[in-house]
Amino acid sequence: MEKTIAVLPGDGIGPEVTRAAVKVLQTIAMRYGHTFHLKHAAIGGEAVDNYGNPLPQETLEVCDASDAILLGAVGGSKWDQQPSHLRPEKGLLNIRKHFDLFANIRPVKAIPSLLSSSPLKEDVARDVDMVIVRELTSGLYFGEPKRRSDKSAVDTLVYTREEIERVVNQAFEIARTRRGKVTSIDKANVLETSKLWREVVEERKQAYPDIEVEHMLVDSAAMKLITNPRTFDVIVTENMFGDILSDEASVITGSLGMLPSASIRSDGFGMYEPVHGSAPDIAGHNKANPCGAILSAAMMLKHSFGLHSEAMAIEEAVLSVLNDGYCTGDLSAGGKRVVPTETFVTKVIEEL
Ligand code: ATP
Ligand code: MG
Repeated sequence: MEKTIAVLPGDGIGPEVTRAAVKVLQTIAMRYGHTFHLKHAAIGGEAVDNYGNPLPQETLEVCDASDAILLGAVGGSKWDQQPSHLRPEKGLLNIRKHFDLFANIRPVKAIPSLLSSSPLKEDVARDVDMVIVRELTSGLYFGEPKRRSDKSAVDTLVYTREEIERVVNQAFEIARTRRGKVTSIDKANVLETSKLWREVVEERKQAYPDIEVEHMLVDSAAMKLITNPRTFDVIVTENMFGDILSDEASVITGSLGMLPSASIRSDGFGMYEPVHGSAPDIAGHNKANPCGAILSAAMMLKHSFGLHSEAMAIEEAVLSVLNDGYCTGDLSAGGKRVVPTETFVTKVIEEL
């Protein structure tokens, strides 16, 4: 298979963890006889410094000519004083909008050898295996009008039927490849957008008779994520609820550094990035956990290219290195051997 991948390392630990993911992709290419053309481009603070724009035209052209995007992380206090169009995060919002990446997918899976780093009791966190599908390009964060006076402020929450349908379809498709259950999370007892959301889920489920569907109110879901996270297989929810619940769910596995994510649209194109941010406090010290980025590359192979065995090989290699007792500093609990980023990556490559 021949594919072109845009590589956008970004800021802070972004370049370090992206380098790790690229090495893994190159190893997979060699071992399975694929050709991956890796095209580097600038985004975020790095792009503000070098191009005066957090998402330069040059970068968009590289991405437009690619089959998928691998992203590190953007941001850092260095750019805090910049006007909003020159903030690193703006690059991220703009690239999502440019490519219409409407579904954000975050798998949350407990890793047996890391259970002691979870804030939950081990017997609650054990065997957690869920995927959160969050609507990413509409809802409260994008609604107009927004208004502010001394005495009041307004944000607007709007969803169209079509916006709900496409993200709900994604969730059903993902559930088909897993345990076949979708939990749709809303606040249908008070919000009109949630009533429409629930209606659309009920309609779409007719096309997926093999999938079990349950509706849950967001407050109850927030509680169940902590008390009984194993009940979830695929969660689908709107933008703000998904933002909050996916951060809540991310702590179950113990470290932010472990978690991958994908932002996709229906034709298979997607952007893949670790859940963590640029972590400027540890940047340049060769101690960032590269697993989130490496597992994001695995998600790319699976979702965008349909390379399932290759993706599984990467997941198994990462698990195996962790099981052998190696980890980065963020996972130091539980008598493990802390190694630098590059040593950890070398072990993953050897495993592959
Ligand atoms: P952002 O605003 O970009 O999301 P943030 O400050 O909210 O950034 P992160 O940068 O993701 O959060 O990380 C918070 C802290 O968690 C970091 O300062 C770092 O100490 C730790 N951390 C995050 N990612 C990693 C990683 N991959 N490896 C090790 N530690 C990490
Ligand atoms: Mg953050």
